[in-house]
Amino acid sequence: MKNKISNLSTKILLALLFGAVFGIILNYLVPAGQFRDKILINGILNLIGSGFIRLMQMLVIPLVLCSLVCGAMAIGDTKTLGKVGGKTVVFYLATTAFAIFLALMLALIIQPGKGLDISSVETSQVVIPEKTSLVDTLLNIIPKNIFSSMASGDMLPVIFFAVFVGILLANMGERAATVSKFFNEFNDIMMEMTMTVMKAAPLGVFCMIAKTFATIGFSAFLPLIKYIVCVAAALILHCFGVYQALLYIFTKLNPMKFVKKYIPVMQFAFSTSSSNATIPLSIETLTDKMGISPKISSFTVPLGATINMDGTAIMQGVAVVFIAAAYGIELTIPMLLTVMLTATLASIGTAGVPGVGMITLSMVVSSIGLPAEGISLIMGVDRIVDMMRTAVNVTGDAVCTTIIAHQEGMLCKEVFEK
Ligand code: ASP
Repeated sequence: MKNKISNLSTKILLALLFGAVFGIILNYLVPAGQFRDKILINGILNLIGSGFIRLMQMLVIPLVLCSLVCGAMAIGDTKTLGKVGGKTVVFYLATTAFAIFLALMLALIIQPGKGLDISSVETSQVVIPEKTSLVDTLLNIIPKNIFSSMASGDMLPVIFFAVFVGILLANMGERAATVSKFFNEFNDIMMEMTMTVMKAAPLGVFCMIAKTFATIGFSAFLPLIKYIVCVAAALILHCFGVYQALLYIFTKLNPMKFVKKYIPVMQFAFSTSSSNATIPLSIETLTDKMGISPKISSFTVPLGATINMDGTAIMQGVAVVFIAAAYGIELTIPMLLTVMLTATLASIGTAGVPGVGMITLSMVVSSIGLPAEGISLIMGVDRIVDMMRTAVNVTGDAVCTTIIAHQEGMLCKEVFEK
């Protein structure tokens, strides 16, 4: 089993590298035209890459529903569930607020937008989303119709419903034995399906990365290199510094082991830019390689993929400093505090799919009166930043899961140490 997984992670890593090289070759060495653009990039690469993401997306809702019902059913008592839920939310929000703080500090030191010649950057149209009020956001957790929530992939209502059903099933015992068995067996099928779909991961990753690099050349990057480097530095510091320190402080587990085992999931999140699509692989890795009971991970991972976006918050922090500098606007302390608050809320409202962080960024930018058009400055390179921040987003969920599982006695140390 272990060999199978590490074998797969080597294959995914190679696919990432070869995909990037192939994409760059396509971009610079193959002449533009019908063959390259229509047949190769938007035809074959798009078909296989997007087809693979769809296979993973197909798994998400049924997997989250079943594994959460089973998880809640197995924990059984509402007190433990409430404790786990409360701790998870606090952890998620606190790490996000810290992530923005770190990003703002670093960006204020590096000053990525200083001396930027706005005319050298390609800009694109910005769509400003409508704001949902806090009351609506809370109300939206309760599904009006669970089938429509499932159909539209709304994670929070599905989580709410699944936990509710799981608690009831635990209390009803024999009276609902058939349904309990059904959910357990369906859950096994979904895990089996995840393993099967993952066999195609190297090919899917290769095609997706190749398509990305074939589409965005280096020229889009040059004026924005400082911005990208600043985001990357904050992401690396948060992911390999803050998270690993927290992991060690709370669990005394070896952070190096954690990172080594979790890297394939980060690579996967990097290639798909989607926390949601990464849920199945993340739960599987935490169970098989870290020895964490799915009772915990089935709850914390989907919840994290929905509300915990530290990588996205970091991008937003740096983006605010960048845009302010590009427009020559001085950021005051109250403005920075507002950014911390709105970006933490924006992280809850950012769905775990590609590119949404850019949309919620407009909420953060306009909260302090910066021109929302400023976002168009960084849109051209967002695809690459999205890949990096999504890898951090999912790692945050996994670190929280490991800490909570350890505290609740639901982590098997032998498996983790293996
Ligand atoms: N792509 C990110 C994720 O799925 C969300 C975002 O920042 O756009 O976690």
